[in-house]
Amino acid sequence: MAIERTFSILKPDATRRNLTGKINAMLEDAGLRVIAQKRIQMSRQNAETFYAVHKERPFFGELVDFMISGPVVVQVLEGENAIAANRDVMGATNPKDADEGTIRKTFAESIEANSAHGSDSAENAAIEIAYFFAGSELVG
Ligand code: ATP
Ligand code: MG
Repeated sequence: MAIERTFSILKPDATRRNLTGKINAMLEDAGLRVIAQKRIQMSRQNAETFYAVHKERPFFGELVDFMISGPVVVQVLEGENAIAANRDVMGATNPKDADEGTIRKTFAESIEANSAHGSDSAENAAIEIAYFFAGSELVG
């Protein structure tokens, strides 16, 4: 087991419904520690860069529109196997496929408005953390 850091976003559907505290409680109950956090309004450029891997997908334009439709909370989470632990507690991308007790099963409105993002690999976690946070903002 290794202590890892991962990058998380509480998406606009979560901030709009005032669910950030409830979602943070689920993250903390899953053994993750919030070591950096800030509420921001993503620019279109931020969202397009962040989701560039999906730019050829048919839903890309709507995904970007959604991610800038309201504030988000960007976070760095730390814990044992944090990348997989966060993906587990988030649940499947489509809330219809997500397990009971996961964030997306509990809160997501749709496959697009699915409440949370979590990095999918150690490499992407490092890239995503560096995109949104200075090293001095990470206090483990
Ligand atoms: P995320 O990267 O946000 O953590 P994920 O890794 O579970 O989610 P991805 O395949 O990376 O899923 O898709 C990124 C995001 O794009 C999803 O979280 C969702 O908001 C949106 N998305 C994915 N598939 C679809 C789809 N078929 N229709 C609409 N939106 C989609
Ligand atoms: Mg993803």
